[in-house]
Amino acid sequence: MAQTTPNHTQSVSGWAAHDSSGKITPYTFKRRENGVTDVTIKILYCGICHTDIHHAKDDWGITMYPVVPGHEITGVITKVGTHVSGFKLGQRVGVGCLAASCLDCEFCKTDQENYCENLQFVYNGIFWDGSVTYGGYSQMLVVDYRYVVHIPESLPMDAAAPLLCAGITVFSPLKDHNLVSTPGKRIGVVGLGGLGHIAVKFGKAFGHHVTVISTSPSKEAEAKESLGADDFIISTNPQQLQAAKRSLDFILDTVSADHALLPILELLKVTGILFLVGAPDKPLQLPAFPLIFGKRSIKGGIIGGIKETQEMLEVCGKLNITCDIELIKADKINEAFARLVKNDVRYRFVIDIADAFATTKDI
Ligand SMILES: [Zn+2]
Ligand SMILES: [Zn+2]
Repeated sequence: MAQTTPNHTQSVSGWAAHDSSGKITPYTFKRRENGVTDVTIKILYCGICHTDIHHAKDDWGITMYPVVPGHEITGVITKVGTHVSGFKLGQRVGVGCLAASCLDCEFCKTDQENYCENLQFVYNGIFWDGSVTYGGYSQMLVVDYRYVVHIPESLPMDAAAPLLCAGITVFSPLKDHNLVSTPGKRIGVVGLGGLGHIAVKFGKAFGHHVTVISTSPSKEAEAKESLGADDFIISTNPQQLQAAKRSLDFILDTVSADHALLPILELLKVTGILFLVGAPDKPLQLPAFPLIFGKRSIKGGIIGGIKETQEMLEVCGKLNITCDIELIKADKINEAFARLVKNDVRYRFVIDIADAFATTKDI
């Protein structure tokens, strides 16, 4: 039920892509007034997720231009609606991918809003009032409090931002498979990018043996020395793959480029699970034999619910887990996009939104 949006009166500065060139330029747009269940957030930092580039370039044919990307948002609350509970002025908070859901289905009622059929994203989504949502590459955000999480005091706001998408995306499958609280398993992580590096940190912090599976031999030293990985397999090396057959309990595949599943599946023990969080554009080629002869299974999942995201942040706060980031100024977003496409970042770009508005002070 799309409506006109007369209460969208707040002028906000941000950055948007306007066509499939994906070029990001400064853009001023309107946000709604703070409603009774809304909080307003002065944005401090926003991570750059590969999804932002797909939307900016309309790779999936669903972009509503102009699009203001950004779903790894941290900031400070500047307004609180009268029906909001659990949030106060000045608190450090985060917003991830979700902006709205039906609040009434079996998934919404069991803290799995991320699987609601009427899920709407924080940008390029349609909010309850019919308006298009604009993301975190901007000065401030008005958001329903049910999609906001607290950032623990011990976490820096810039390096915490990517936890809101990259972090929860890899935490949720680990939680689902009892790998957060039960140590001692053998876990594989395919791909060592924004998602993969956090998965390695989680895997080690939760007491597992972690093997990184990558096409890039150059990442071995860093995987082991900086991130603490125990083993490293080059996915194009038949000897290494052969030697590691049937050795892993659980593999998280974070790669969104097309790649072969057969060698990965064969690394799993009998009854092992391959969990996909990367989304290759083309359909996967799925060989039946490694499933049948190993009683293995393949699953997938998207981010996590809000309650689970809060739980992940608490865990990160206690264990001191954040993302390794490269902080950039807002005028370098296009450069960062180009470098991210080439995997030239260790491991996540975060935009210093606060810096861009340092002279305008409070909104
Ligand atoms: Zn993302
Ligand atoms: Zn729902």
